[in-house]
Amino acid sequence: MSVQVVAAKMAEVELKDVAGKDLAPVPPVTPKADDKGVNKNEPGAAVPPSASPTTEGTAREDPFPAPSPNPVKMPQASAMKRTDPQQNGGEAFVNSDGTVAEAPRMKKQIQFADQKQEFNKRPTKIGRRSLSRSISQSSTDSYSSAASYTDSSDDETSPRDKQQKNSKGNSDFCIKNIKQADFGRREIEIAEQEMPALMALRKRAQGEKPLAGAKVVGCTHITAQTAVLMETLAALGAQCRWAACNIYSTQNEVAAALAEGGFSVFAWKGESEDDFWWCIDRCVNLEGWQPNMILDDGGDLTHWIYKKYPNMFKKIKGIVEESVTGVHRLYQLSKAGKLCVPAMNVNDSVTKQKFDNLYCCRESILDGLKRTTDVMFGGKQVVVCGYGEVGKGCCAALKAMGSIVYVTEIDPICALQACMDGFRLVKLSEVIRQVDIVITCTGNKNVVVRDYLDRMKNGCIVCNMGHSNTEIDVASLRTPELTWERVRSQVDHVIWPDGKRIVLLAEGRLLNLSCSTVPTFVLSITATTQALALIELYNAPEGRYKQDVYLLPKKMDEYVASLHLPTFDAHLTELTDEQAKYLGLNKNGPFKPNYYRY
Ligand code: NAD
Repeated sequence: MSVQVVAAKMAEVELKDVAGKDLAPVPPVTPKADDKGVNKNEPGAAVPPSASPTTEGTAREDPFPAPSPNPVKMPQASAMKRTDPQQNGGEAFVNSDGTVAEAPRMKKQIQFADQKQEFNKRPTKIGRRSLSRSISQSSTDSYSSAASYTDSSDDETSPRDKQQKNSKGNSDFCIKNIKQADFGRREIEIAEQEMPALMALRKRAQGEKPLAGAKVVGCTHITAQTAVLMETLAALGAQCRWAACNIYSTQNEVAAALAEGGFSVFAWKGESEDDFWWCIDRCVNLEGWQPNMILDDGGDLTHWIYKKYPNMFKKIKGIVEESVTGVHRLYQLSKAGKLCVPAMNVNDSVTKQKFDNLYCCRESILDGLKRTTDVMFGGKQVVVCGYGEVGKGCCAALKAMGSIVYVTEIDPICALQACMDGFRLVKLSEVIRQVDIVITCTGNKNVVVRDYLDRMKNGCIVCNMGHSNTEIDVASLRTPELTWERVRSQVDHVIWPDGKRIVLLAEGRLLNLSCSTVPTFVLSITATTQALALIELYNAPEGRYKQDVYLLPKKMDEYVASLHLPTFDAHLTELTDEQAKYLGLNKNGPFKPNYYRY
């Protein structure tokens, strides 16, 4: 499959630099022959000349007009539009004719959760519990802290059956326990320390508010990191109403802190499927309030509004979507001609893909394994299936801990990368008897089948870091001759008749989401991208974005990265005029062509 990438209108979001200093006004970026990002003469240019009607910049007001003397880079570049439904969510590679080929990935059949569950039937308490929402694609393809110091209270009453009020008498929320607000506030404060870019955006918002008048309805994991994002959006002028995109990932104490702070939050850990849709509905359906922006993670909220309140789209200015699954849904809508507002695909931003997948997993693989098994990594033999972004992160972490790491791959390019990074490339069958740990991260299915599980040695740890629980054939282990023993939360021993046992983590679900936390700093990068996408869509003049799915411009990605550099006291080299001319670059970026792979 191939898709064509064209540049849309210039998206000159003029943000002030992180230090709060003045930025020299930057004229709208127009494609020039010497601009690497849009070089028409370059083979494989991302902007084919035929796309020219949409390549002109359009002057617009700076949503951050705060004073700022330091003229550093700011995002002011063309947005890319993917006209293809991108059914498989793969990365796009630009061909020499200006078309973009999709990297092959598994096609997934998307099914909306409410096709299976009728919202209006409110079940009894017992019924509600039994309606546990299977972790759907939408609830697992974005990553947030799964850990919650959530109450161990025995209060079995559903939050929906409780009268709820915060200390100011506001009752427009539904959470587990408002008394946990102080604890949640401390969690949020800790997260703030690792989310420098959002904190910088807040400082910048002290002047004019780029989201003034925005009514954002959100559906994401409700964690301390999301709270920092929501409070940033509020500081930028937005009103927010929020539900959880995953029935397990809500940190109850954080939801309490948000509710105490005046946010209309509808979420708690352990919602039933019915609760899940009820919470979304409470966010959307309030008399006298109508959202004009959607921030979604998984597409459930967008889908709910499409199904139940289609007229709302008349006032909605745009959708920002984070997850692979949600983006698939948007492209499906677009392909069917049913997308009635512009949408930003945050998932495919470089700052999401190249950081979330690689660095997040590099850190959280060890955390997930350690918390569940207390395993020592030094000298252990580990096989990692798949050497994409996630696999590279896992391998790097394990190698650094002194493990002996083997890699399996189907793609000769990734396989060669593994070899040159010093890993032994093997077939799983060659090492399965000797390894201590098996980790899947392919995004594929049936990578570890029963035959391999039968051949593993006693005590072998088996886990998955890929998106869905299809990589390990867990169903094949549910046979009468095998005994399952739950030894810890998310840890099962599966015991063979001869006494051999394997250690299966999270029943083959995503290990880090299920069993550990993920680094706040990585979420900061994604959250900043989301905030900028909201600002851009909300402030875009009529006609800049059509009813289609767009990628954030590379300059925005570069800006998000630059906002995080001060954390490291990193000093970026500036191009001299001579160098810029030599490379054919604008001194303020973008610094790479759209097909650059990083
Ligand atoms: P990717 O496409 O970059 O890498 C997957 C690799 O697996 C590819 O190189 C592919 O060739 C290889 N592969 C496919 N089938 C294989 C098989 N049978 N045996 C061996 N190798 C095989 O994708 P990615 O960004 O590395 O993501 C991998 C999975 O992890 C996806 O499902 C993604 O959604 C998920 N993910 C997880 C996290 C997390 O925090 N755990 C973060 C981001 C993405």
